[in-house]
Amino acid sequence: MLSVDEARDRILAHARPTGVERIALSALVGRVPAATSVQAEVDVPPFANSAMDGYALRAADTPGKLRLLGEVAAGASSLPTVVDGTAVRIMTGAPIPPGADAVVPIEVADETNAHVAVPAAELGAYLRAAGHDTRAGERVELAAEPLTPSGIAVLASLGLGELEVRRAPRVAILSTGDELVAPGEPLVPGQIHDANSAALAAAVIESGGEPLLLPRAPDDPAAIGRLLVEGAGDADLLIASGGVSVGRHDHVRGAIEHLGALDFWLVRVQPGKPLAFGSIGTCPVIGLPGNPVSALVTFELFVRPFLRAMLGLAGDGRLHLPATLAERIAKDQERRAYLRVVLSRGADGLVAHSAGGQASSQLRPLAASNALLIVPEGEPAGEAGATYDAILLGSLT
Ligand code: AMP
Ligand code: MG
Repeated sequence: MLSVDEARDRILAHARPTGVERIALSALVGRVPAATSVQAEVDVPPFANSAMDGYALRAADTPGKLRLLGEVAAGASSLPTVVDGTAVRIMTGAPIPPGADAVVPIEVADETNAHVAVPAAELGAYLRAAGHDTRAGERVELAAEPLTPSGIAVLASLGLGELEVRRAPRVAILSTGDELVAPGEPLVPGQIHDANSAALAAAVIESGGEPLLLPRAPDDPAAIGRLLVEGAGDADLLIASGGVSVGRHDHVRGAIEHLGALDFWLVRVQPGKPLAFGSIGTCPVIGLPGNPVSALVTFELFVRPFLRAMLGLAGDGRLHLPATLAERIAKDQERRAYLRVVLSRGADGLVAHSAGGQASSQLRPLAASNALLIVPEGEPAGEAGATYDAILLGSLT
């Protein structure tokens, strides 16, 4: 049985970077730039302009009473020339008129009868030089991270209307189980609502991928096989849930073996031991366990880093922080556990409390948690007072 790290390495070895596509600026948030930098074709700002509403003048004329020549608003292109003893009323963002070398804010000036009295001003005061943010010809670095609003603002200010980004990996999702019914549909005895299809699609989107939901499969080898082949044909990655354990109706692992190649099965992880990995054609296939908590935790550990690797991103993109466990939580000694916990700030650092029951069928403690606390293999429990690494999934309040 593989350790979590061995299993992740084996899976990540199959991550190939996706191609690129050109995207309009308005749709760029969360997308990953294909290039590591862009060339600035213009100065930003393109011209010297005023940082304040006020008066453009010559610093050498201050303090004093200056004759007003007129007004320059943002967007103006015809500018009066400021000469000795004169000033021009100016708005924030308006071009500095020729001859002016400082701006005095409106709040400290006194305008009467086409004249303005101003206190002493320093050379260059409230004046934003052309190119003070970026110079034409400069290379502007783009972090290998999903674009944020501020990064998009930089691109927009450079005048770029679109950018080449990595194509989102397409992830086919197959939920298996005779008992599954679509949420919104009524249940008959023996049935449950399918939690994994919607949850895994959401996790794919959150990790930068594009989900392709396949129809739910019954516990039938032929139907599972047909849908796995269909999904593998369309997608960069295929994830199935359920049917990977040792029950007589678990057919996903057998189908991967039969239709493609199984790389490994079983990982020393809690929750999520019966994880299967292989390929069908050129498409990697991950069989996640059916219990929704196991499916989502193993998605976090194996699928999320895989999608990030396809996008050219390293690691899981999460903060890993040490936290002290407040109470003992038993676990399987043979496996590394990812306990669902609520992290909060304590007097001596972060404190982890159990988010509720740790059974892999108990979804609400996972939803209530903001972190997974990692308790190593070889330990029978997470011990009260001991410190472990935690993966921060949400925010700290
Ligand atoms: P399996 O891995 O197929 O043995 O399923 C393990 C447990 O997870 C069973 O109790 C299933 O009913 C449950 N399960 C499997 N798939 C889903 C799903 N899509 N949504 C909710 N529960 C599921
Ligand atoms: Mg099943």
